[in-house]
Amino acid sequence: MTGRVTSPTPPSPVPPGSGWPDDPATPATPVADGPESVRELAATAGTLAELTARQSVCRACPRLVEWRERVATEKRRSFLGEQYWGRPIPGWGSDTPRILIAGLAPAAHGGNRTGRVFTGDRSGDVLYASLWRTGLAAQPTSVTAGDGQRLIGARMVAAVRCAPPQNKPATDERDTCAPWLTAELEMVADGLRSVVCLGHFAWQAMWPQLAATGFAVPRPRPVFGHGAEAVVARAGQQHGLLVIGCYHPSQQNTFTGRVTGAMLDQVFRRASEHAAANGVA
Ligand code: SF4
Repeated sequence: MTGRVTSPTPPSPVPPGSGWPDDPATPATPVADGPESVRELAATAGTLAELTARQSVCRACPRLVEWRERVATEKRRSFLGEQYWGRPIPGWGSDTPRILIAGLAPAAHGGNRTGRVFTGDRSGDVLYASLWRTGLAAQPTSVTAGDGQRLIGARMVAAVRCAPPQNKPATDERDTCAPWLTAELEMVADGLRSVVCLGHFAWQAMWPQLAATGFAVPRPRPVFGHGAEAVVARAGQQHGLLVIGCYHPSQQNTFTGRVTGAMLDQVFRRASEHAAANGVA
């Protein structure tokens, strides 16, 4: 009797340090299991590499952990043979960015599958095409971790690092996740000149983060809109940090024409121009 030998799909979620491209963690990376340990592990990471490693194994939000891992094991039919990342999505891109791009949370079958922010879904297709046209990405597509894509002078983060049901994180989940972003922002803030907030949620989440990092945040907070701008500064800094609102390149927004590639290009060009005018080309 002859039988076809099939190799089993490797386990999902991806075990830390098991060979996934760009996996920042190892089996020894400490795991946050609640809001207090997120605060402690974010504050003591010391380096961006260790911070992203710790982000990528966090288990502090029970509802989101259950959801991201369920999606990773049940999978979408079209990805049934694939290994799903199924873990939090760490910050990704340049370690010394002049532009920070902030989104809401990873998509269930996008970032939660590929392990990289905005990678492997339609929002990412539109976003990375624009980043490539505006000189901030090395390739026009972002399909999977290890595909050669690279951000140029830019870094991407999510306000909430785990895929939420219906793409809607709860307020307490946003607050639990916030110290990861605060620590990341602190580590890159000196070279940063522009922050692009993709969508209202990211815009709202960014102001307390900027305040926590020492920026003087206007009151009342600026109203979100596509192309909305505010410049904030830290004591002793000569340059201002430009915060720009941008409609989220969600499927709904791109299908309805609420946001187009040209509109994204305009925002990223503006962010780059501000950086160049303020000492970072
Ligand atoms: S959303 Fe943030 S704090 Fe909550 S489990 Fe994911 S990484 Fe941890």
